[in-house]
Amino acid sequence: MNSSFSKIVLITGASSGIGQATARRLAADGHHVVLGARRVDRLAALVAELQAAGHSAEYQELDVTDVDSVRGFVEAAHARHGRVDVLVNNAGVMPLSTVDALRIDEWNQMIDVNLRGTLHGVAAVLPLMRARREGHIVNIASTAAYRVDPTAAVYCATKYAVRALSEGLRQENQDVRITVVSPGYTQSELADHGGDPQVRAAVRAAAEQLAIPAAAVADGIGYAIAQPRNVDVNELVVRPTAQN
Ligand code: NDP
Repeated sequence: MNSSFSKIVLITGASSGIGQATARRLAADGHHVVLGARRVDRLAALVAELQAAGHSAEYQELDVTDVDSVRGFVEAAHARHGRVDVLVNNAGVMPLSTVDALRIDEWNQMIDVNLRGTLHGVAAVLPLMRARREGHIVNIASTAAYRVDPTAAVYCATKYAVRALSEGLRQENQDVRITVVSPGYTQSELADHGGDPQVRAAVRAAAEQLAIPAAAVADGIGYAIAQPRNVDVNELVVRPTAQN
């Protein structure tokens, strides 16, 4: 891509799965990617890989549940580059269980990462984008933002909420683009952490049958970002053909 189209793109949760694939896709498109997550060893390896391929990338440790961490992540990038063109709010967790299991710490973790984390990102970039009357926020929701299934009530609640806040944000902003990208089963580490072990095993088995590569979701994100500034791709659902 011509470097005059290069954007400064911040990606949360870039240490694995969809965030990692998005970093690869957007860097290959010629954008400068700023990668955030807690596992900085993973980020350092990814930045080294991208730079070795001739791309432009950097990373910073980030915990999206901590509003100061998110603010610091955005402000540092803004100070270095003079602008933030795109924020991809991708970080997420999915420890599934039935509500009656009362895994309250995991409910709070999902609310903190998936919902509050997204809001923290919005709060950090929105004033900068409003001041420039330009910018793009891409929020990663899920097919779980469109339908609820047993064991996923709280996860779905967070993802419905991400869609709702994105729609409200879209209605309130005439200059800043808002895109919701909702993946179905996608190859990643999402089902590797937490939740009821039996549910986790079932999700992993379903994912093994169905899951699409994370690059398929990254391609959707790349498409939305590549549109002209008066074109806002509001919602994209990218799921396996065989997923009901
Ligand atoms: P992964 O588990 O592979 O990636 C999740 C990413 O989120 C990791 O990079 C992790 O980094 C990061 N993360 C988790 N907690 C925090 C935190 N507190 N602060 C910063 N980063 C954090 O899963 P996916 O790639 O699948 O998930 C990406 C997004 O896609 C999520 O929002 C998920 O809900 C959504 N999604 C995924 C689907 C799938 O089937 N895979 C389907 C639908 C939606 P680290 O641990 O290093 O901090």
